[in-house]
Amino acid sequence: MPEDTSKREVWIYHINTSGCNGCDIELLASILEKYDSRPFDIKVANYPEEAEVVMITGHINWNNMNAVKEEMNKTPKHRKIMALGNCGISGGVFKGSYNEAGPIDKLEEVDMYIPGCPVKPEAILNALSELVDPENSFKLREPKLSENYRGEHNHYQEKCIYCGECARSCPSNAIKVDREKKEWAVDLGKCLFCGRCEEVCPTDAISFSNNFDMYKKEREALWSKGKNNESK
Ligand code: SF4
Ligand code: SF4
Ligand code: SF4
Repeated sequence: MPEDTSKREVWIYHINTSGCNGCDIELLASILEKYDSRPFDIKVANYPEEAEVVMITGHINWNNMNAVKEEMNKTPKHRKIMALGNCGISGGVFKGSYNEAGPIDKLEEVDMYIPGCPVKPEAILNALSELVDPENSFKLREPKLSENYRGEHNHYQEKCIYCGECARSCPSNAIKVDREKKEWAVDLGKCLFCGRCEEVCPTDAISFSNNFDMYKKEREALWSKGKNNESK
């Protein structure tokens, strides 16, 4: 078979700023041949000067902040930045630690936020497609997810009594509940997808959807009112 030369090459440069490696493994999975049906070829750049897209995983701390800045200063001006995983987006599991210097967008303007702990390869690829391909011609179909996969939350308004127990129990302070206004929202950029909120809800008003495709160009857009506002 002759080599398909029509594929556009996308050069990514990966910076790991001290995450747990969970997101790095998912990034590696996203560039494996399993996804070779995509219309672009992902090439991993050895040097920041070659970067078309910089993918940052992990947590910015006082020890690595200057190194990250130095690397970023070497990248071309037109490169895009993707923040992969909640360590970089909000601090994630490191939020509030003594050496927290992030999030990433305190250092550099981010073009795409992909929440998760870890991120999903399919979300990385779909977000990359939206970023580099104006026609967004590459959209992966739903991946095969495990039975207990936790994607974006469902929140069932009709069941919610706005007691606030989910917010009080959340280890990452990701949920906001306004009892007066009857409003509920979760910051997907902070969520650890631990499932605690679902467990503690006395009325079964929270569950987890299969929506893996969580990515946004604006940080504020990661606030979600829940995927499903109808009754179960
Ligand atoms: S977001 Fe979660 S999985 Fe990703 S590097 Fe941080 S702790 Fe690890
Ligand atoms: S714990 Fe359940 S009922 Fe209470 S505010 Fe949260 S979602 Fe609503
Ligand atoms: S799954 Fe629920 S409790 Fe756990 S971090 Fe996310 S919002 Fe908080």
